[in-house]
Amino acid sequence: MSATAKKMAPRDNGAPDYKKNLHPVMVENYGKWDYHEKLRPGVLVHVSTSGEKLFTVRAGSTRTLSVDKIRLICDIADRYCQGHLRFTSRANIEFLLANESDVDPCIKAINEELGFPVGGTGHSISNVTHTQGWMHCNLPGTDAAGSVKALMDELYSDFITDNNLPARVKITASCCSINCGGQADIAINLQHHHPPVTKPEGVSICELPKVVAICPVAAIRPRQENGGSTTLEVVEEKCMYCGACHGQCPTMEIRDAETDTLSIWLGGKTASTRSGPSFMKLAVWGLPNNAPRWPEVGEAVKRILEVYRNSAKKYERMGEWVERIGWKNFFDLTGFPFTKYHIDYSESSRNTFNTSSHVRL
Ligand code: SF4
Ligand code: SF4
Repeated sequence: MSATAKKMAPRDNGAPDYKKNLHPVMVENYGKWDYHEKLRPGVLVHVSTSGEKLFTVRAGSTRTLSVDKIRLICDIADRYCQGHLRFTSRANIEFLLANESDVDPCIKAINEELGFPVGGTGHSISNVTHTQGWMHCNLPGTDAAGSVKALMDELYSDFITDNNLPARVKITASCCSINCGGQADIAINLQHHHPPVTKPEGVSICELPKVVAICPVAAIRPRQENGGSTTLEVVEEKCMYCGACHGQCPTMEIRDAETDTLSIWLGGKTASTRSGPSFMKLAVWGLPNNAPRWPEVGEAVKRILEVYRNSAKKYERMGEWVERIGWKNFFDLTGFPFTKYHIDYSESSRNTFNTSSHVRL
């Protein structure tokens, strides 16, 4: 092997070998786990056939973290967790502990040094996740991180307690209808209500074939100007206001502080437990994009959770519950209006209710 080759990373693409980063107790007991249980809200124990135990303390994070905060998190992991922790897909931080006597000091440090709550296990709400938003993306029509902070303040008690809900409730917030937040029991999505407004003089900076190609409903087409130059036009009857073109060509502006609103979608699930994966469906639309606390969204989510808490059977996820009682009863029980926008009239709709987050109104 040449000297140059020796300097290269052993593997410079793809996912790293996760086994190198496992807690030593995990390595020792790989494939030998016997059972696990919840000790209290936010605290789990996994027990090996050898009798060895690994404790997990789950904390909700803010998802968007400063370097200083990450250093504090690592300090706590060094102190109590032999340097080991992991982030879940919902931005929980799971501190992994070999010694039960470290659990209480670890929770104290999480609460007092980080200011994060411990919980999110069992039949609770998960840490509310949000999309990357203004930190990375050029499309956001709302501040997903800010709205999640406001919402978590409202739902705090359902995060730190177990078994206060019929089943697990996963909540996301997405700052446009492209919905990076993905499927969730309750999803809060921003919606636009008109086609993009194109400034012809700005289109020339964009790669026109790419802009045409990105539209999922082929609503964008090139147009020859009198002078021979090419610009783009949007066929408004086809446009479903998704905003994908704005990411490809920033001059096609679709965000509108006057008309953009937030909507709530229910019943998405990726797990194949019981009823299998399902798409979420439109439940509430037209909520104001009301920064900095989005009180109307918090009120609507709390109303849905309250009816779900009182009406669903144990272990029934949000979508399973609504399918069992029927959407008519959902609207009757929650008091939210059922409108023509809840009906998906596109040729390719999978069923009569709207399962796309692109709502024309
Ligand atoms: S939801 Fe939309 S605006 Fe938000 S990060 Fe994803 S693509 Fe960007
Ligand atoms: S908003 Fe979506 S549907 Fe409308 S033109 Fe742009 S990419 Fe096409």
